[in-house]
Amino acid sequence: MVRLPFRDTHYDVRPSKIVALAKNYVEHAREMESDVPERPVFFLKPHSALIGPGEPIILPRMSKRVDHEVELAVIIGRRAKRVPEEKAMDYVLGYTILLDITARDLQAEARKKGLPWTVAKGFDTFAPVGPRIVDRRELDISNLEIGLKVNDQIRQLGRTSEMIFKVPELIEYISLIMTLEPGDIISTGTPAGVGPLRHGDKVEAWIEGIGRVEFDVLAEGSILC
Ligand code: MG
Repeated sequence: MVRLPFRDTHYDVRPSKIVALAKNYVEHAREMESDVPERPVFFLKPHSALIGPGEPIILPRMSKRVDHEVELAVIIGRRAKRVPEEKAMDYVLGYTILLDITARDLQAEARKKGLPWTVAKGFDTFAPVGPRIVDRRELDISNLEIGLKVNDQIRQLGRTSEMIFKVPELIEYISLIMTLEPGDIISTGTPAGVGPLRHGDKVEAWIEGIGRVEFDVLAEGSILC
């Protein structure tokens, strides 16, 4: 469980599921050599992957290539089942930053074999969040800068206006399939520029209006973990 500042107090981030979008920015779909999807494409990340500020991202031994993906995360505030797009924002509590950490080599293998992405996306520490939750009434998310640096070098820089499927459409579509519970997270996909992380790296991610958050990267076995 991760505790983040919210309004004048804090919020315990305890989702029943993390729904993460694939290919929701055109340039990222291109860099993955994928077509732009006609409908949202999503997968689930386990909540056991969550970490908060101050905790390190651990590179698992099973992977030789672990990538960063900075994403705007939407936190659901009310149970949402078959919610139309026009009412979707009433079901949102707020926003934070989520890094959809991905074992790219294991994902490539899964793609080739037609297997699920669960292994590539699901390791412990593969869903860092922070630095705080912003009330949805206090932030217009339609055109925010979103970016990520590794060791002070900019790797990803985009705008939320480049999303193919916007948040209300995502809520409508996902809630047709699975009920979204309060606390659930929708991670809305990453802009272009994904790249590898190495032991000792410092990752800094930001979204305009939400803030900046930093995580250290460590190889499994380099600390007790
Ligand atoms: Mg992603």
